[in-house]
Amino acid sequence: MRLVLLGPPGAGKGTQAQILVSTYSIPQLSTGDMLRAAIAEKTPLGLEAKAIVDRGDLVSDDIVSGIISERMDQPDCANGFILDGFPRTIAQAEALTHMLDRKGLHLDAVVEIKADPNVLVERIINRAKESGGARADDNEEVLRKRLEVYSEQTAPLVSFYSEQGLLKSVDGMAPIEDVTVAIKSAIS
Ligand code: AMP
Repeated sequence: MRLVLLGPPGAGKGTQAQILVSTYSIPQLSTGDMLRAAIAEKTPLGLEAKAIVDRGDLVSDDIVSGIISERMDQPDCANGFILDGFPRTIAQAEALTHMLDRKGLHLDAVVEIKADPNVLVERIINRAKESGGARADDNEEVLRKRLEVYSEQTAPLVSFYSEQGLLKSVDGMAPIEDVTVAIKSAIS
């Protein structure tokens, strides 16, 4: 199963991805997690990405497409993967199509987790409090920027994938368990 989870910051992509990982025994590929790991390790990529991630902007399409393509070649991705936070632009979605073509693979579905932006601000502020400020980009100002970036650059992927017949939408405002049930039934 090769799945994309699409949705604004705080919609629950990461939470749902973690649940689906254990159901389908396939890994979650989160570009956000990969970038945060690179930033923590101060790798050349991390040093380049830090300021961009901290202000809520997007890292370049080529960089994230490159790290995702390499990650997909790891043996644990042989039976599929859940993409969480990638693609985030039309250029990334096109790069994804090409990299999958080259590998002889295709996406099974793109699940859009729909969410109300006003509720997301509240959720992320709570996430920041619970994690004790573990993420520099989980604060109100940067979150508003990330929501703006989502609506400008990522939301167009909804019609992109809908036109390809791959899009399934679920209500991300429902309780976590209900969202999981809706995703599983959408992709089964
Ligand atoms: P996330 O954990 O998915 O919310 O990502 C956190 C931050 O990492 C984003 O706000 C971006 O700065 C960066 N990032 C993650 N995934 C991507 C991507 N696919 N393209 C560009 N930037 C990304």
